[in-house]
Amino acid sequence: MQRFNCPLCGTRAYFHNLTCACGSQLYYDPQTSRMATDAPACANRPGIGCNWTAPLDGTLCPSCAMSQVVPVLHVGDNLQLLARAERAKRWVLANLARWGWFTDDDPGRRPRFLMLSEEAGGRSQQITMGHAAGDITINVTEADELIRLKRQRDLGEQYRSMVGHFRHELSHFLFDRLSEDDRFRPALRKIFGDERADYAAALRRHYAEPRNPGEHFITAYATAHPHEDWAETAAHLLHLVDFTDSFVSAGLSMPGIPSDFRPYEEADTLRLLPIAAEVAIAINDINRALDNSDLYPFVLTAPIRDKLAFAHRWLRAPRH
Ligand SMILES: [Zn+2]
Ligand SMILES: [Zn+2]
Ligand SMILES: [Zn+2]
Repeated sequence: MQRFNCPLCGTRAYFHNLTCACGSQLYYDPQTSRMATDAPACANRPGIGCNWTAPLDGTLCPSCAMSQVVPVLHVGDNLQLLARAERAKRWVLANLARWGWFTDDDPGRRPRFLMLSEEAGGRSQQITMGHAAGDITINVTEADELIRLKRQRDLGEQYRSMVGHFRHELSHFLFDRLSEDDRFRPALRKIFGDERADYAAALRRHYAEPRNPGEHFITAYATAHPHEDWAETAAHLLHLVDFTDSFVSAGLSMPGIPSDFRPYEEADTLRLLPIAAEVAIAINDINRALDNSDLYPFVLTAPIRDKLAFAHRWLRAPRH
């Protein structure tokens, strides 16, 4: 994420800030990727603290407008859980906008988010996150950190976050958008395998006999089916680009990182990935000083780098 400042006083402002220490209201403008102090506010600003600007006063911002369904908000912690989930969504959408996705210049389809809670008012329901035909189901209950960490441990995952869920599910949606180009799927099959393989059977097999990711897959879940391999790989590309962007935007530097390095603008994956790996190792060292877990506990083998390079090529390709 890039660095922001209050346009009025110049103080550093963070992406989710609603106000500045100088007293100004802050609004993130998704069209210019900048902070403003006077703009039409998203109608969800008072309810869930959305700080994005809206096309007109009283309307929803582009991110909130994509949420077609929200939980019953007066039940349990649903309002707070939705607020946290929407924060993560705005972060990921702002990242994707750096590559032109879902901006005003992008005439393509938008996803519809079904933001559901396991607490549905008097009864609890099971929710499976996923993407189907443009609808992305998100379980906002996982915005509760204790619940999410317990599931992460039960599933034996190294990393689980709301930002990660949005990156993964949006990658499925982007697969469909990219498929509008006839060259995308044949090229993908050469690297990820045939995505026309029976999906339900593959998932049953995965849960019955989970496979080790080995050298070829970024996570165990990626072994389930080429669709999941693509979504996991594309999500990891977004992780790598964004934490490296945050590193350089914070003004940090390391040997081997050019002073003008701009991760979202870098077209060469072979230049990007070694730098991201070095940044991850350095931050891991810092985290170990506090006995915190590693920032990015994954190994980028040569076959995984090839897959990341494919995702990078397609996700940042200009489409207009
Ligand atoms: Zn200010
Ligand atoms: Zn909003
Ligand atoms: Zn998936």
